[in-house]
Amino acid sequence: MSSPRKKIALSIGKEIPPVENYKSEPGNEIFGSLVFNDAAQKQYLSKDVYKKLRATTVKGEPLDATIADQVAQGMKEWALAHGASHYTHWFIPMTGLSAEKHDTFLEPTAEGGALAEFEGKTLIKGEPDASSFPSGGTRSTFEARGYTAWDPTTPAFIQQEVNGATLTIPTAFVSYTEEALDFKTPLLRSVESLSAQALRLLRLFGNKTAKHVFTTMGPEQEYFLIDRKYFELRPDLIAGGRTLFGAPPYRGQELEDHYFGAIRERILAYMMDLDRELWRLGIPSKTRHNEVAPAQFEMAPLFEKSSIAADHNMLVMELLRRVALRHGLVCLLHEKPFAGINGNGKHNNWSMATDEGENLLEPGKTPHANAQFLAFLVATLSAVDKYAELLRIGISGPGNDHRLGANEAPPAIISVFLGEQLQDIVDQLEKGPASSSKSGGTLQLGVSILPPLPKDATDRNRTSPFAFTGNKFEFRAVGSTAAIYWPNTVLNTIVADSIDRIATKLEKVGGDLNKALASVLQEEIKEHKKVLFNGNGYAADWHAEAQKRGLPNLKTTVDALKAMPKKEYKELFAKYKVLNEKEYDAREEIMWERYVKIVNIEAGAAVDIARNQILPAVLKYQNRLAETIQVTSAVSKAGQKGQAALLDEVAKGASELYEAVEALDELVESANSGSSLHQIAASFKDSVIPGMLKVREVADWLEGLVDDDLWPLPKYREMLFQY
Ligand code: ADP
Ligand code: MG
Repeated sequence: MSSPRKKIALSIGKEIPPVENYKSEPGNEIFGSLVFNDAAQKQYLSKDVYKKLRATTVKGEPLDATIADQVAQGMKEWALAHGASHYTHWFIPMTGLSAEKHDTFLEPTAEGGALAEFEGKTLIKGEPDASSFPSGGTRSTFEARGYTAWDPTTPAFIQQEVNGATLTIPTAFVSYTEEALDFKTPLLRSVESLSAQALRLLRLFGNKTAKHVFTTMGPEQEYFLIDRKYFELRPDLIAGGRTLFGAPPYRGQELEDHYFGAIRERILAYMMDLDRELWRLGIPSKTRHNEVAPAQFEMAPLFEKSSIAADHNMLVMELLRRVALRHGLVCLLHEKPFAGINGNGKHNNWSMATDEGENLLEPGKTPHANAQFLAFLVATLSAVDKYAELLRIGISGPGNDHRLGANEAPPAIISVFLGEQLQDIVDQLEKGPASSSKSGGTLQLGVSILPPLPKDATDRNRTSPFAFTGNKFEFRAVGSTAAIYWPNTVLNTIVADSIDRIATKLEKVGGDLNKALASVLQEEIKEHKKVLFNGNGYAADWHAEAQKRGLPNLKTTVDALKAMPKKEYKELFAKYKVLNEKEYDAREEIMWERYVKIVNIEAGAAVDIARNQILPAVLKYQNRLAETIQVTSAVSKAGQKGQAALLDEVAKGASELYEAVEALDELVESANSGSSLHQIAASFKDSVIPGMLKVREVADWLEGLVDDDLWPLPKYREMLFQY
């Protein structure tokens, strides 16, 4: 007899991937072909309108509203040429997933035909019924009005499917009362705030020409791929994206042979298909490789302006999933799809740059530039120290709890890795001008004596949640499913605050800039150096050391969210006009709700699977054993003891499983009856999650005991190795 799982195993790899005409349509030719990019704008807009639009998209100038009709007209013509019949405003509500509602261009005519219409006002403003999106109490459901507002800084694009195409317009989503109902608006606001402060600092360093500073972002995206047929037999993956059961396979990632290994044919066909889809959308997908865990992979694009990079990352996650299905695969983006092996992260590479193309975290070659670099560097690390809790909040969520603060790095303790060379420079700066004049004697302080820093001044540290990597920071603690708008909004806002403080101090001290800078940076470093840590973030003694230093260690989402209502945090977001108090509170509320809902779903799935799939399989095996023993004992006395012992074990396991499931069911019920959202969340963390683990422990043990043919769930060894 063969189980459904075995039939799957034998059918794997028979899918024929779709064929791309990669030779006749090379990558450089398809790149951006589905984007209303510069070339398309030139072709479909008048010179004058084109120039005015560019002033907004490239230089960040306010949009000239009079051009909306003409832009809409051009966009429509372009979209029709691509076969589009519909358009949609595309936005990121606080579900953290993109949202869209399609409308056709077609409008019936009096003659019984139809015309394709698209007006400026439809381009600029949409009004989806907003009542069913999470608002965190900003509005009651009867106040349904929400508006989507065209964000011209991310170009419109076409979503192409087999049966048609849709013009897709990136937008911000706000309420009738002007509160941001999305993740994008606050990100755009945070970039503006950071820009204003960074320009102040740049002016002090003599830069009179830069008009804008923006943040840059390059998110490395990790994911798993498993065969779709296995996925369909895993209700836990279907419901929540992670396995709630599964004994550790005898082979995991210990051979360290998957990382950067040769990519399997089926996977490479997928990656190639994916890359081309991304390129068509103008997403600069650059890197692809096998990751550490079996069946785990990574893609990384080239960095872009934060808001575009964040939009692009949403599309990347979407396409990772969609393209996988075409190849008979399912892409698992969850932070921890499988216990016992690595989870998925999203390394958020981050820097600041001027509109003139200067990377402000580039160490540079001249002492002058070094001084400026050091000011921005110190501003960043001060921010991370001062607002470590906020950064932790920015990456919180039930999925990421399985990485941070669990037995996987990076830890929940937020620290900064600078590398040997920069650490040395920061150490010098801390001591002030006197001790730092080591070379030549021409220079009086730590700033100007610094040698030009070679680009690879820093070694890598894979354990640090926030590491300097040459000319950018790599914020490694971001979860793989995160809509990266939010963590970057936090980061931009806290760095804006630091830059503001440093610029203000410098303006106050006045006099010789180098001298002033030395004293200001000295003060900053003294106060914030406790966040610097170049050692192993996984090590237990770091946890003890961090505690001594007074660094927060918010292990779970519940711990992190408890810190969120602090007055100084609300004031910070309000001061830099990123989130007013109402908007801030709404986000807190939504994060609590999300936590509870997700764990509740997982617990429900655990109960269902254990009770309705695993327990019946165990009982079937138990029954089979009992019958076998009975039949056998009539004819042979040999082996009775061992067989009876096996039966005892199975029976004991079945009963333990039953008890654990019943207990879990009760825990969920009692957690849900809590009097406040916070209390409910705490019960989910403190009793439901341990209850789920207890069920899992018994079930996983039984998996090792029960007849393989009877086991209902695809096993780790199958999902992770047979694809
Ligand atoms: P790693 O070796 O750390 O895995 P990758 O090359 O995979 O690095 O990815 C590094 C990411 O950092 C890329 O997305 C890259 O474009 C991005 N990056 C490089 N410079 C900057 C910068 N100045 N700002 C933001 N991101 C950057
Ligand atoms: Mg990296």
